[in-house]
Amino acid sequence: MKILIVEDEASIARFVQLELEHEGYATKCVADGREALDEAVNNEYDLIVLDVMLPSLNGIEVLRRLRQVKQTPVIILTARDQIMDKVAGLDLGANDYMTKPFAIEELLARIRANVKKRMTPSGNALEYGKLKMDTEAHTVSYGSDAIDLTKKEFDLLVYLLENRNVVISREQALDAVWGFDFYGNTNVVDVYIRYLRSKIDDVYGVKIIQTVRGSGYVIRDV
Ligand code: CA
Repeated sequence: MKILIVEDEASIARFVQLELEHEGYATKCVADGREALDEAVNNEYDLIVLDVMLPSLNGIEVLRRLRQVKQTPVIILTARDQIMDKVAGLDLGANDYMTKPFAIEELLARIRANVKKRMTPSGNALEYGKLKMDTEAHTVSYGSDAIDLTKKEFDLLVYLLENRNVVISREQALDAVWGFDFYGNTNVVDVYIRYLRSKIDDVYGVKIIQTVRGSGYVIRDV
């Protein structure tokens, strides 16, 4: 498993590199945008951690050019006050984002999730115990029962299942399911989680979506 780290702040790059190598990944660090694009286009990486603020070519531009030729998973790193970078990055095909400063465990979890998603081509079927979802046909069933979900309920459940074992914040769920143009309250996520629980958990006596106090929601492996 090979990961390209693109970050011009040497201390952050070094720290991330040490942690990734400790986890058994092979890594390479690049500090310059143009060099990063060259490296990413001409080599096969399993994932790229891409900072946005870079010399010579910013991370958004690196991503835009990379996506014209390759679909390597990319996690972008943005500063907390650069919301537009996050939006542009996801629009251009970044697979995920982290806001600085971040906890290294959170980055490692996102790397694992994004690498795994790519390694296990599950087709259109998502399964979790007796719960089965078909993302092509837009159907959900529990055992032999068909479950009727609205579009947003369906998308939210798919997003949580695809990011299994990763705690999803309300903000991330909003971005993924409602889109960036949604300017409402993040409470809408709680409301939809309640809908899902009332349609699945309450009916079948299970606890599929876990609440992580102060952080968000997660579906953990059974
Ligand atoms: Ca930087």
